Amino acid sequence: MSMSSSDPSNLAPDHIRAIAPYQGGKPIAELAREMGLQVEDIVKLASNENPLGISPKADFAIQEALLDIARYPDGNSYVLREAVSQKFNVTPDQIVFGNGSNDILELAARAFLTPGCEAIYSQHAFAVYPLVTQATGATGVVVPAKNFSHDLSAMLAAITAKTRMIFVANPNNPTGTLLGKDELFYFLKQVPRQVLVVLDEAYDEYLSAANKSEAISWLAEFDNLIISRTFSKAYGLAGLRIGFGLCHVSIADMMNRVRQPFNVNSIAQAAAVASLADDDFVERSYALNQAGMMQLTQGFNKLGLKFIPSFANFISFTVKNAAEVNQKLLQNGVIVRPIANYEMPDYLRVSIGLFSENARFLEVLENILKSNQ
Ligand SMILES: *Cc1c(COP(=O)(O)O)cnc(C)c1O
Repeated sequence: MSMSSSDPSNLAPDHIRAIAPYQGGKPIAELAREMGLQVEDIVKLASNENPLGISPKADFAIQEALLDIARYPDGNSYVLREAVSQKFNVTPDQIVFGNGSNDILELAARAFLTPGCEAIYSQHAFAVYPLVTQATGATGVVVPAKNFSHDLSAMLAAITAKTRMIFVANPNNPTGTLLGKDELFYFLKQVPRQVLVVLDEAYDEYLSAANKSEAISWLAEFDNLIISRTFSKAYGLAGLRIGFGLCHVSIADMMNRVRQPFNVNSIAQAAAVASLADDDFVERSYALNQAGMMQLTQGFNKLGLKFIPSFANFISFTVKNAAEVNQKLLQNGVIVRPIANYEMPDYLRVSIGLFSENARFLEVLENILKSNQ
C-alpha cells in the first residue's frame, strides 16, 4: 500500500482523525500513583458522582444478580422496561436502554446522522455531543451561549435544510444552567419536525419539584423529541453504565437497530430496577445536594470567588490561574475538573460531595488562594 506516511492513524477517515479525545475526571487511583498519596486521603469531586454511593436496595439486587453472570443479559431489559414504563408513564416500546445515557446519545447520532447533515449544540454544552456527531461524519454546528446557557433563539436561527439533530442539555454540564419550561416548550414548537431534538436530562433528579422537567408529557405532541435519562447521577450507578431514552416508538425502533444486542449488562439492569423502587434514596441524595450547594456557594462568597448559579450537583467557579490552582488542588489530594476544553479556561468545576469533602475542598482552596497572594 502506498501511503504518504507510515502512521496507521492515516487509515482512519478525516472526520475520525479530527475528533478530540474526551477528557474525564482523574481517577483516584491514578492521582494516588502520581502524587504518592494514600487513596483514603484523596477527595474526588470531579465527575458529578453521588457521594452517598448507591441505594441499599440496589446493593442487594447486585449481590443477587452476581450469581447469574455466566448468562447473557436480557437483551430487551424486560423487567427494567416494565419498571421504567410504569414509573415514567410511557409505553414499553417508547424506551431505549443504553450502556450509560452516553450510549443513548450515540445511538441517536448513529441512527439519524450521516455525512453531509448537521447537528446543532451550544457552546459550553456537554462534550459528548460533538463526539457522537463527529463520529458519524456529520457536521457539528456550535451556537454561542448566552450567559453560559443555551441561546435557544440563536439555536433555532442556526437550523438549515441540512440540520437533522439538536442537542439540548437541561440542566447543562458543566455550567449547571437551567432553561425554563415555557422557553423550552416554545422552542420545541418552533423546531421543524424533520429535526430531532435530543433533550439530555441527566440531572433531573436534582431539580426541585417546581423545576422538574415535564418533557415526558410533551412526547405525545413532539414525535421528534428524544429525552435521555441516566442512572449515573442521583441513582449513583455511574460505574455500572446504564441510562435510557424516551421517544416516539418509531424513533426507538431506529435506535434499537443500531444498538448492540447486549449493550446493558445484567447487573446494571437489576440495580436499576431496584433503584427505581427506592425513592427514599433519591430524596436523601437531593437533600444532601441542596445542603452541599449552600455550603459551597457560601464558601465561594466568603472567598470572593464568582460562580455560575447551578441547578445540578456541581458548580463551576472562576479563579485566577485556574490551571495552576487545579494543579495545587491535586497536589493536596483534591480532584476537581478543569474545563478549559469547554472554552472556560478561567473556571473549575467542583462536584457537590459529602459535607466533609466539601469542607476539605474549601479549606485546601482557601490555603492555595492565600499562598498565591
Ligand atoms: C453525566 C452526564 C451524563 C451521563 O452520562 P452516562 O453515560 O449516563 O454516565 C449525560 N449527560 C450529561 C450532560 C452529563 O453531565
